[in-house]
Amino acid sequence: MSAAERGDVSPAAAADVDDDLEFAAARKGSAEELLDADAHDPLDPMRHSAAHVMAEAVMDLFPGTRLGIGPAIEGGFYYDFEMARPLTPEDLGAIETRMAASVAADHPFVRREWEPDEGRAFLEAAGQPYKVEILDDLRAAAAQHGEPPPPVSTYQHGPFIDLCRGPHVESTGRLGPFKLLSVAGAYWRGSEERPMLQRIYGTVWSSQEELDLFLWRRDEARKRDHRRLGVALDLFSFHDVSPGSAFWHPKGWTLYRTLEAAMRELQERRGYQEIYTPPLVHQKLWQQSGHWDHYREHMFLVEAEEQTFSLKPMNCPESTFIYKSRVRSYRELPLRLSEYGKLHRNELSGVLSGLTRVRHFVTDDAHIFVRPDQIGTEIEALLGEVREAYSWFGLEPTFTFGTRPEKALGDPALWQTAEALMREALDRSGMRYRVKEGDGAFYAPKIDIQIEDALGREWQTATVQADLVMLPERFDLTYVDESGEHVRPVAIHRAIYGSLERFIGVLIEHTGGALPFWCAPVQAVVIPIADRHAEAALELAVVLRAKGIRVEVDESSNRMQNKIRLAQEQKVPYMLVLGDREIEARTASPRTRAGEQQEPLAWEALAERLAEQTAARRPD
Ligand SMILES: [Zn+2]
Ligand SMILES: [Zn+2]
Repeated sequence: MSAAERGDVSPAAAADVDDDLEFAAARKGSAEELLDADAHDPLDPMRHSAAHVMAEAVMDLFPGTRLGIGPAIEGGFYYDFEMARPLTPEDLGAIETRMAASVAADHPFVRREWEPDEGRAFLEAAGQPYKVEILDDLRAAAAQHGEPPPPVSTYQHGPFIDLCRGPHVESTGRLGPFKLLSVAGAYWRGSEERPMLQRIYGTVWSSQEELDLFLWRRDEARKRDHRRLGVALDLFSFHDVSPGSAFWHPKGWTLYRTLEAAMRELQERRGYQEIYTPPLVHQKLWQQSGHWDHYREHMFLVEAEEQTFSLKPMNCPESTFIYKSRVRSYRELPLRLSEYGKLHRNELSGVLSGLTRVRHFVTDDAHIFVRPDQIGTEIEALLGEVREAYSWFGLEPTFTFGTRPEKALGDPALWQTAEALMREALDRSGMRYRVKEGDGAFYAPKIDIQIEDALGREWQTATVQADLVMLPERFDLTYVDESGEHVRPVAIHRAIYGSLERFIGVLIEHTGGALPFWCAPVQAVVIPIADRHAEAALELAVVLRAKGIRVEVDESSNRMQNKIRLAQEQKVPYMLVLGDREIEARTASPRTRAGEQQEPLAWEALAERLAEQTAARRPD
């Protein structure tokens, strides 16, 4: 049972969305994995062929180099080398030049099968102990199963020959435009006890346009990296005393609370009731919910008075205590209980990354208890809520509908009804959605919510699940229907932002830090031109704050141009420069962070306008 199946939102759900090649490079340990060229994408044979050509160039320029592995990865390829000296960026240029010569020579890639012993002897004679190690592992595995040593296959192009299963392109001339990107250290087989090799990352594409686009996106993704912007914009920081848990600075926390407040407003309008349940919960609850058996390794356990408690990894089971606090009537449903639960999940420290892979996070969670016949209308309303919330950021959500998996629990007839109602709701919503047959949770059909950011990267943020089994059955939930019978409700688990931490990380990358005006931590900076204008600047700030605008006054002794540049770097939506003329007329001319100079407005009128803009929650 995966985290995503069990809970509402997995912070690791979009594990592969990081554009960073190093991140995409899987940790490879077993011999089988080491030999897998990862030919999963149509571009992969070309990527892997480029890795061979790169290895040829390295062997040529640095004789005696020992080869690790060189697979295709998302967006490119790498090869691991053991060599006498550390590589420098200049070396990459020389390797590229040598690769270009191999491409121009158009060497065919030729496969050869060897007798097992002959192949092993060849690699040993070639001075490639890592390759021999892979072969020996495969032989040992075969021997364990009582099988003979497997045959050895190699691919050769020009002078270079490598232990390899392929596939490859026909010849080196088929490689498209390529670029070597970086060098990083990588332990052999991902183990700290083995030698550290040097890994060269590269990328190759079918056309120059694709290569250029890839390089632009990579560059842009770096500039927008929320971990970097979080520090530059003074939003949050991370410290080793609490790995995977953000320390929110005043500005970041203002953003956080503003997003929460917007969602609370939406929820109140939609008839939700907010609850709060304890973060520390006895193990018996997790035994009842099934987490103890299937999810314990991801839970932080705490001992007290010889009893074991856990920091909750999700809110779901506790909401049932509030549901069951009294007898529920069909008239009360839908009962919408929302909760900003503080969750902890014990992710390995090695996979933690910024706000998108964390140990501690908060979800804008809700559990909605409905009668089975209410599933359709409730889901339709929920999709509307999602659409509204995402419009605040200019994001267009798309949906993926996951239907009944093979190992589903619960009444097949109820599954059928629930799926049909959810599908109708999706159709009525008029939103784009895909269907993934069998991708539902084992206890619920589900709708996953994805967004595409400004760089075309897809992020999964949240889900809606119509739980037929987990809460209703395991926690024995009932309501009294029209005829006085006790019957089971359906529990809809839903989050809209998903993890607030993750959502903020995505939002920062999507906007490059230029957050929408309504949720920007500082919405405007008042910039007095000279010291004598400072008093009036403070006065203007008071007028704006009275209307709820988050405003700062730059009282530093910097020159005006520096103050403007600073505010622009901090991506503050409006700069209000005050000099003699403005103060005398009690006006201000907003200047936007994009550099647009707007018409002067009286202070009160400006405050009014900005307050309206905040309330409207437009994405600009
Ligand atoms: Zn190969
Ligand atoms: Zn839930």
